[in-house]
Formats: sequence, C-alpha cells, structure tokens
Amino acid sequence: MSDSRETRRADALSLLQSIFAEVGDGPIDSALLDPSQAAYSGSNPTSWDELPAEGLVLKLDENQYVLTPGGWAEALARADVPSDPQFLKRVGQLCQVLKAHVKGRHRSILVPFEDIVKASGLPSGWVFNVIDSRLISRLHGRKDAFWFQSARGRIVDIPRDFGLESVDLFADLRAENERLKEEAEHFNDLYGYSRCSTCLAPLVTLGQWEHEYGSEEVMEYACGMTVGAPNGDVPCTRDPRFPKFEEFELITRREGNTWLCYASHTPKSRFAGSVHLTRTCGKTEDEARQAMKEAYLRRAAPWKG
Ligand SMILES: [Zn+2]
Repeated sequence: MSDSRETRRADALSLLQSIFAEVGDGPIDSALLDPSQAAYSGSNPTSWDELPAEGLVLKLDENQYVLTPGGWAEALARADVPSDPQFLKRVGQLCQVLKAHVKGRHRSILVPFEDIVKASGLPSGWVFNVIDSRLISRLHGRKDAFWFQSARGRIVDIPRDFGLESVDLFADLRAENERLKEEAEHFNDLYGYSRCSTCLAPLVTLGQWEHEYGSEEVMEYACGMTVGAPNGDVPCTRDPRFPKFEEFELITRREGNTWLCYASHTPKSRFAGSVHLTRTCGKTEDEARQAMKEAYLRRAAPWKG
C-alpha cells in the first residue's frame, strides 16, 4: 500500500526539520545537503523530491541539495523558533545594528555584510539566513533590509525606514511557552516594572529603541501591554480600553482567487490603532472576515499565568 498524502507530507516536513537542525547557524547557500548523510536516514527518499517541489529545498544534483531562503524560514517557524527568547534576543540585536546605520539619515544605505556581522556579534551564517529570507518582514511585516542587487552575501541595502515600528516586532510573539516565562522571571530579578499593572503578566521585553525623533525605553508584557512604544502604547487585554472587535474597520479586497481582509482602526477608537492585526485571507469575503475575527480573538485572549 502506498503512503497516504498526509504521511508523505509529514515525512517531508520532518526531513525539513532535520535539514534545518543540520544547517544550524551555517549559511544556507553553502550548507550542502547530502541525502545519504546519517542524519537523514530515517526519511523516505521521496521526501527529497517533495521539498524541492514546494520550493523549500533546491536540488543541485543527485547528492547535493541546499535549503532555500523560504525553506529556512518555513522550518524555523515550524520549529516554533520565533517564540524562543534566545532567538528574540538575536533578532533584537540585529535590528539594533541595522537601525543604527540609517539613524538620522534621509535615504537608504548600503553596508558591507561583514560589517553588520561584526557589529552584531552574531554568527555570520545566521545573519546571512535572516537577511536572505527577509525574515523580519516575513514574520512581522516590517520594512526589512535586503541584498543589494546581485551582491547576495556581500552588500546589504538598509531602507531609511527600516523597522520603524519594530517595537511591534514582539507583539505577535505571545508568551505561550515555558521558555518565555523563564525569561520573564529573569527580567523580574533585574528590573522594576516587572508586572503588568492590570493582569500581573510578567515583563517579557525591555529595550531601548531608536526612532527618528530620539530613543525611548520600551516595556512589553506577556499579555501584550506595551509602554513607551514610539507608535503608541498598547493596553493590556484585560484593560477596558483594549479595543473591541467592532472598533476595527474591516476592509476587504479581492486579489485573484483570494479575498484579503485588513483591520484598520477608526477615529472613534483611540486604542485600536495600537493593536496590530495582520492581514488575513480566505476563499470568500466572509471567510477572510471570519479569519480576521479569529485572529482578533487570539490577540485579545487574556494572559493566563
Ligand atoms: Zn496585562
């Protein structure tokens, strides 16, 4: 009996995870993957055809494959890496280095990749993969840095408004796992303001963020409450000022066979604008709206200690 579609897909995705683990902090363009390596012995050989078909892996020849930027980002998201405090710290460090280059400037700037690596103190391969996959915009929808023309791995083009709202970088990354809670405990020992004044959720991010008009201290709590963000404070989900779903204006738009739904804030709600809801999509207009409603409910869920 042949494997079901689901089994094949599960096997391909598990192979993707093995590849991701093997690549580690190495740059994806030069981490050559050989299917005969012991690390992949548990995988079905057909998975090596499925991943290239989905654009996650690129086949160079029979024995050599490389992870694509999309494959790296997909594997990272599936491994739940974006909620890992260590990962958050790295992204924050890299963002600060990139942002520092465009601070006070009126146009974008080209910076040698090596300079960015050196200034960030992060593994070169990891920085390469983040820029190569445009991870910052992929995960958070923010203005991201990218390779200058064909200078992949050599010159980074940092837009003037890079990560202007990058305070929101962490807004999607809710504290839903133990690791993040441990990080919060660590912060509690180090700083004051360690709990949300409304629901007592712990502080999860404390940072100094540069923006065009100066710098501000930003505190973000596990419930989503953010204080000091340049683009406005975000209330706790238990705060009566936290925007109701009705306070967002839903804007739908058809793109090909897909309906997109955007949640925009209306002038009647002071705080809706501070709560960012990522665009949703669906096969029908109703489906896209429903997806937005669900995204809102997830965002508005009270923090559970
Ligand atoms: Zn709270």
